[in-house]
Amino acid sequence: MSCELLLLKHRLNNFLVLGLVCWRSPHNFNRTVRVMDHAIRYRAQKKSIPGTKPARTPDDEIGVPSLGLFDDYLSRRPLNDFTADLQRLVFSSLTGIRVALWNSSGGGNHDFRSGILKAMKMKAWTLDTPAPVTERPLHLSEMPVPSPAEDELLLRVDACGICRTDLHVVEGELPVRRSPLIPGHQIVGRVAALGSLVADFAIGDRVGVAWLNRTCGVCEFCLAGRENLCEQAMFTGWTVDGGYAEYAVAPAAFTYRLPDNFDDTQAAPLLCAGIIGYRCLRLTRLSENEWKGARLGLYGFGAAGHVCIQLARARGAEVYVCTRDRERHQALARELGATWVGDAQDEPPVKLHASIIFAPAGELVPVALKAIRRGGTVVLGGIHMSPIPSFDYSLIYGERVVRSVANNTRDDGRAFLLEAASIPVRTHTQTFPFHQANDALIALKNDSIRGAAVLVAD
Ligand SMILES: [Zn+2]
Ligand SMILES: [Zn+2]
Repeated sequence: MSCELLLLKHRLNNFLVLGLVCWRSPHNFNRTVRVMDHAIRYRAQKKSIPGTKPARTPDDEIGVPSLGLFDDYLSRRPLNDFTADLQRLVFSSLTGIRVALWNSSGGGNHDFRSGILKAMKMKAWTLDTPAPVTERPLHLSEMPVPSPAEDELLLRVDACGICRTDLHVVEGELPVRRSPLIPGHQIVGRVAALGSLVADFAIGDRVGVAWLNRTCGVCEFCLAGRENLCEQAMFTGWTVDGGYAEYAVAPAAFTYRLPDNFDDTQAAPLLCAGIIGYRCLRLTRLSENEWKGARLGLYGFGAAGHVCIQLARARGAEVYVCTRDRERHQALARELGATWVGDAQDEPPVKLHASIIFAPAGELVPVALKAIRRGGTVVLGGIHMSPIPSFDYSLIYGERVVRSVANNTRDDGRAFLLEAASIPVRTHTQTFPFHQANDALIALKNDSIRGAAVLVAD
C-alpha cells in the first residue's frame, strides 16, 4: 500500500501537522511524506520481527539507533528548526514513539517546543518532607518533562547512582533547599533535547551529570580554579531536581562525556563516589612519585571506597581497609587487593602515610589520627559527619592534618574519568529497577549493598 493511502488511515491530527509543515514550508512536502513513509515502515517492521520489543505505551521512547535513522533524513538537507520539529511530531504520532523535539542549531519557536515538552509526562520520585527511609518518604509522581533552559540539555535518564548523600538529603541531615525535590546526582542519560545556546552536544549523545550542577563563575573561588567552594553553587538532587526520574535537565557545561568502556550501570557510581574518592586521594597531599609503596588507610568501604582502592593500587599504594561490615564490605576489600582488612576501629599493623574516612562517623577521626605517621593527612570524604569527639593534642601533633573534602571541580571529574578508564576501574553494582527507589535507599542505609547501588530505567 502506498504511503499516501496508509496516511488516510491515520488520525486527523496527523493531517493537521502535515498541513502545518506544508503551510510553513511547502517545498518540504515531499520530504515530509518520505519521513512518514519511513515512520510507517519502521512501525511495521517493529511489529513483524519476532523477539523485537513492542512499544510499551503509546508514548514509548525511541531508541537511539532509530533516532539516528530518523535524524539521517534531516541531516541530508538541514531544515529550519520549526519544520524539523513538526516532522518529528509527525514521526512521533505515526509510530506512537516519543522523539526528541529539539534541534541543535537553536532558534525556532521556543514556545512551541516548550509546549510540546510540557505536554509530555514523565515519572519521577519526589521528596516532600524528609523522613527516615524506613518510612518510604519518596513518592512516585507524574509531572511534565522539564524544558531545558538555553544553556541546558534535556536527558532521558538511563541510570542514576544512589549515593550516601541522597540518604542525608532524604532523611533531613542536610537542610531542605527545594521542595518537592527529585533526588539523585549520578545521572547517566542520553541527550533528548538541547537548549538554543548549546553547541557541543548532539541528540543521542551519552553524558553524565554529577553533584556540582552549576557555579556562579565570577566569585573569587570560581576565578581561582576552586569552583567546588563557590558559595552560589547549585547541587544536583539537592538544590535542583536530580535523576530519580525519567528525564532531567542539566547545564551542558557541567555534564561529562563518559568513556565508552563503562556501560550505563557501571558509569553511574563513578559520577560521585568515584570523583569524590579521586579528590580525596588528591587531598592526601601525596605527590605523584610518593604513591608507589605508600600506605593508605580507608575507613568505610561502600561505593566510594571500592573505586578509590582501585585507583590507589593502580598508583602503587598498599591499602589498609577498616570497615564494620564483614560479610560484604570486608570481603569486597580483600577481593580488590587490600593489603590488610580490619573492623572500623581496628588499628592497622603499620603506621599509614594518609587515610580517607568515607564513613559518616566522627568517632573515627581520632582513630584514624592514631594510625597515621607524622606529617600524614586524614581526609574526611563525606558531606555530613556525626560530631567528632575531643582528643589529645598528641594525636594531631607532629604536623598531622585533618581536612574535609567539599564537592569537586569539573577538572577533578574529567581527570578522574580518564584515569578510571585507563586502569580500567571496575565498579561493582547492585541494580534496582526504577520503581524500587525507596527499597534501594533502605538497603544503602542497612549497609547491605556490595559496591554501589544504581537505579535503572524500567
Ligand atoms: Zn562562584
Ligand atoms: Zn554523592
